[in-house]
Amino acid sequence: MPEQTRLTLTPGACIGILGGGQLGRMLALAAAKLGLSSHIFAPEADSPAFAVSATHTRAEYTDEAALARFAEAVDVITYEFENVPVETVRFLEALKPVRPGSKALDVAQDRLREKQLARSLGIETAGFMPVASAAALKSAVGSLDTPCVLKTRRFGYDGKGQVSIRKPEDAPAAWEALGGQPMGAEAPPLLAILEKFVPFTCEVSVIAARGLDGHFAAYDVTENEHRNHILHRSFVPSRLENNVTEAALSIARRLGEALDYVGVFAVEFFVLGAGEEARLIVNEIAPRVHNSGHWTMDGARTSQFEQHIRAVAGWPLGGTERLGSCEMINLIGKDVETWEKILAEPAACLHLYGKTEAREGRKMGHVNRCKKA
Ligand code: AMP
Repeated sequence: MPEQTRLTLTPGACIGILGGGQLGRMLALAAAKLGLSSHIFAPEADSPAFAVSATHTRAEYTDEAALARFAEAVDVITYEFENVPVETVRFLEALKPVRPGSKALDVAQDRLREKQLARSLGIETAGFMPVASAAALKSAVGSLDTPCVLKTRRFGYDGKGQVSIRKPEDAPAAWEALGGQPMGAEAPPLLAILEKFVPFTCEVSVIAARGLDGHFAAYDVTENEHRNHILHRSFVPSRLENNVTEAALSIARRLGEALDYVGVFAVEFFVLGAGEEARLIVNEIAPRVHNSGHWTMDGARTSQFEQHIRAVAGWPLGGTERLGSCEMINLIGKDVETWEKILAEPAACLHLYGKTEAREGRKMGHVNRCKKA
């Protein structure tokens, strides 16, 4: 292994984090707990992570001079969201270790490539077809049949960049709603994917980590409920039977291995049916710490944020045991105004992200409520 690939940090070292949202903020706090400092790189002036990290750089992800200075100032680099351009990560990889690397990012930021990877490993996904024109969408809807969901291949999150197609006549409007051009119009192609709608009984995720030495550690499967396409509630234990839980963990392990992954990642699943016969369908891979893993901050031996920092530092992974049953509720937009009431609850653990404006749909914080096993 080249020197850079094996590098492990010692306390006092600095972790560079691309992205300054709440995930970056909680990573920086976890790094501080372990005696590491962090340096956030983000373009937005009001990045919540700036307030809790020793240093930050405010620049665009395409600013190579700023990226080079950032790489010079840190010991290892990670990212807190998957929409960092792959070119940025490739540029940085030539200068410092980036964990997870560009291979994982390249696959996980593209809905088509991640589904192709899953299928190549024999892992089930929803039926899908790549779509890059209104005409292609029409024929894909003909093949997959309705209902289905049209999604942009990249840059979608919290339901943004996706439109449901309930009947074939909805296809042209769905294409235009996503930003594509009407049939016959000349424009750069919109790269999208059409997915068959999955009539799931529930949604679950696996939050897992791989260390620099390939060691794998996963938390208990988390069950998730969405409202308006945004995660509302996560809880553990999930209602899955043990054999299904084991299958979910095994899928996560295989995906982590295939991506040569270092750090924490999430695999989101749709569950079809129930009981021991339930089927798991991979929806998405998130190459980062994940909202459905926030319960680990108060409900597991090691939080997902500490786990990611340990992995990125080249350190042993921490214990993933669950300390009891736990529920996480996101505080979205004005929900955050209940903060005082939550604080008055002895068993509630409140986490606020320091965002000033409670815009609709914006994740402002979360609350964990855990009970001993
Ligand atoms: P995503 O951005 O792909 O994670 O989608 C956000 C949410 O939309 C999912 O958690 C599901 O609740 C719903 N969804 C997305 N794709 C599908 C699908 N193919 N079938 C059913 N529901 C879906």
